[in-house]
Amino acid sequence: MTQTAPASADAAAASAAPVIEIRDLHKSYGPLEVLKGVSVTARRGQVISLIGSSGSGKSTLLRCCNLLEDSQAGEILFEGEAVKWQGAGLARRPADRAQVTRFRTNLSMVFQQFNLWSHMSILQNVMEAPLTVLGRPVAEVEPLARELLAKVGIGDKAEAWPAQLSGGQQQRAAIARALCMRPEALLFDEPTSALDPELQQEVVKVIKDLAAEHRTMILVTHDMRLAADVSDHVIFLHQGKIEEEGPPEALFGAPKSERLKQFLSATL
Ligand code: ADP
Ligand code: MG
Repeated sequence: MTQTAPASADAAAASAAPVIEIRDLHKSYGPLEVLKGVSVTARRGQVISLIGSSGSGKSTLLRCCNLLEDSQAGEILFEGEAVKWQGAGLARRPADRAQVTRFRTNLSMVFQQFNLWSHMSILQNVMEAPLTVLGRPVAEVEPLARELLAKVGIGDKAEAWPAQLSGGQQQRAAIARALCMRPEALLFDEPTSALDPELQQEVVKVIKDLAAEHRTMILVTHDMRLAADVSDHVIFLHQGKIEEEGPPEALFGAPKSERLKQFLSATL
């Protein structure tokens, strides 16, 4: 049988359907323009890393993707469906609450500070959103939650309280919680930055496993080695604009922009 294999995983991803598309996005906090026309497309199975100095707009861009932040101009699409807006400029808001819920459900976020609910067990934390937001039955959600906790290596911590877990275990619980929504894509905002170096690796391993499963992901990270290892595409953000982007070999191996060169030499 003759079949043309894709030249590389990159080439395969480049032709896959877009899951998230951001087109010429502009976002200001009052007079401060934080995103100045940013476009990003994450295709199915693609891992995109966002790098850049503190304050360059990485978190803001991620939060705009799943509509945790408003934006003033540009388009945001999930699986080809554009966000419907009402109002314009600083008054622009999503018009359709059901659509916002659909976006949030499908673009699950993992935060730097885990944000687990301290008054709930680990299992309850993982089950909470599928039960309350999606209205799924416990009989369906609980086995999935336990399976996901096992997958991230803390199957024995289901009944524990967040405070009884290490930071690395809490972050892995937060990843299980994000996965329990059965999202189409995962958004990570510096998932290892709050952890001691020896605990970062256990979270890195989970992220690498997810990348190997070809999960669609956008990852904000200060960990250049992680970005180089897992990404199909890397975006360097500088003062709210994409300064340079490309495959990790190019960005890390042969950066073109002086700002990126400076950034990389300062982070190594
Ligand atoms: P990064 O994640 O790359 O460090 P952020 O997206 O957090 O950058 O921030 C980009 C810019 O927006 C910074 O100048 C920051 O101070 C500002 N900013 C972020 N959040 C807010 C907010 N809620 N209100 C006002 N300014 C903000
Ligand atoms: Mg940030």
